[in-house]
Amino acid sequence: MRALIGIAGPALLLAACSGAAEPASSSATTTTASTGAPTRDADRDADPVVVRYRIERRTDDPATADFALVVTTTLDDPRGWSRAGFRLVEDPEAPYVIVLAEGPEVDALCLPYDTYGQFSCQNGPVVALNADRWRLAHPKWTGSPAAYREMVVNHEVGHLLGMHHPDVQCPAPGEPAPIMAQQSTELDGCLPNPWPLDDEIARAARHDLKLAPGYGA
Ligand SMILES: [Zn+2]
Repeated sequence: MRALIGIAGPALLLAACSGAAEPASSSATTTTASTGAPTRDADRDADPVVVRYRIERRTDDPATADFALVVTTTLDDPRGWSRAGFRLVEDPEAPYVIVLAEGPEVDALCLPYDTYGQFSCQNGPVVALNADRWRLAHPKWTGSPAAYREMVVNHEVGHLLGMHHPDVQCPAPGEPAPIMAQQSTELDGCLPNPWPLDDEIARAARHDLKLAPGYGA
């Protein structure tokens, strides 16, 4: 997401990530494995919650050719949501989809949230990532482009897992930003960070957040 400070207000920033608009829930999603929907075991330490997703790259720009590889590598990374007892599995029949598309298509996928041709979102079963941000990150980003891509995947998938934006975007200036902070817009004095912080992992690991509804749910 490109910064629109001074042009867009907080409503836009919230709208850019639909997960912020969804109320927290204390109920865990429990469905059967045969649907490909999230599953969980009573003992999460022994059996992580499995979340299946598919990948769609809806742009043929060679600069985005590594999209699927970056998504799967990021979601498999031991620094990511797997620390919270989730196992994210690519599956062509999955109920969730992670899409890379150009601005107008992302805007359509994110409705009724406004992404203005520039933002990414999680909207129900869809994570829609803006191809311009994938290629270029954004002017406020002080990390590498590769780290930006990891960040946006982990942030939007965090919403899919039920995580919300923190009350304070940068709770400790000079320290890594929370992954659920809106780093695509402003770092607020924090360091760019593509991975969930320990407290975010602890929150997600409680497995009491409502996962996004999947296709067919
Ligand atoms: Zn967000």
